[in-house]
Amino acid sequence: MIVIMKPGAGVQQITDVMNRVRGDGYAPHLTEGEQQTIIGVVGESPTPLREDNYSSMDGVERVVRVSVPYKLASRHFNPADTLVPLNGSQMGGNKVLIIAGPCSVESREQIIEVAEQVKEAGATALRGGAFKPRTSPYSFQGFGEKGLQWLAEARERTGLPIVTEVMDTAQVPLVCQYADVLQIGARNMQNFSLLNAVGQTQHTILLKRGMSSTVEDLLMSAEYVLSNGNKRVMLCERGIRTFERATRNTFDVNAIPVLKALTHLPVLADPSHAVGLWEYVESIARAAVAAGADGLIVEVHSKPEEAVSDGRQSLKPDRFKAMVDQVKRVANAVGRTA
Ligand code: PEP
Ligand code: MN
Repeated sequence: MIVIMKPGAGVQQITDVMNRVRGDGYAPHLTEGEQQTIIGVVGESPTPLREDNYSSMDGVERVVRVSVPYKLASRHFNPADTLVPLNGSQMGGNKVLIIAGPCSVESREQIIEVAEQVKEAGATALRGGAFKPRTSPYSFQGFGEKGLQWLAEARERTGLPIVTEVMDTAQVPLVCQYADVLQIGARNMQNFSLLNAVGQTQHTILLKRGMSSTVEDLLMSAEYVLSNGNKRVMLCERGIRTFERATRNTFDVNAIPVLKALTHLPVLADPSHAVGLWEYVESIARAAVAAGADGLIVEVHSKPEEAVSDGRQSLKPDRFKAMVDQVKRVANAVGRTA
């Protein structure tokens, strides 16, 4: 349920509603918009919520039942777009922001070189995995803390903030020491202890859609992070599993406008994992931006043929630069910048 206050409702009236929510055993969640204040009611309580008790209170305009299971993530609770600061810009604002870098951090030289290249091409942030979720336990698992240190050095050189994956709760404090944005990978989208742990940090979270998860599952996972008090959540469509085998995954372009309608959180697309073949990455990136994505996360490698992971889907820096130019044109065509 949400309680929508009248424009100009006073502090006392808002406080009275919040206290009543608490008195009924629920948690009030306040959203102060430019025009109106909204009080979301979340949680479980033996006391049933009675709309009439609230709609008759001073300063209340109306009460709306929200039937979707995610609350804090929904547009009902927070109609205005959430803007997440990133390197002096804002994810979720008019400008489409691009995060780029290799799948894995492979060496100090590799990450510094590619950081400089993606920066030059117009990237806003640097990606790179130090802890890698690999299908096979025999595949390269990442350099761990050493990888994080190399990422930090690349950030020092280029000024690009770091986006890197955290795979389990025990790693959260360590990854927080180095990263600007904590990535929750597709395979961990429903690792609820991990979602609770990153929700208790104030780091920005990039939450990737699980490969067999619905849009609603993704929003429920975002709800875990938000309900722990961390409001800086960005969502990412990265392709889902279908019967199609011509590409690694199937990019669910539908998810972009659907998520934009259902949630106020920024929505990114990862064309690299979505299609899995570098020659199609640019097309999928263009489609994502045309469909309304707020940002992209793209794999770039100076020598994809030597990459330890995901070389087949990694763009060379010059191809990445060409992709950025194309994305700018599409962004302009849909009333945005890039
Ligand atoms: C990655 O970003 O390298 C990655 C492993 O992505 P996903 O979790 O979407 O598979
Ligand atoms: Mn990858």
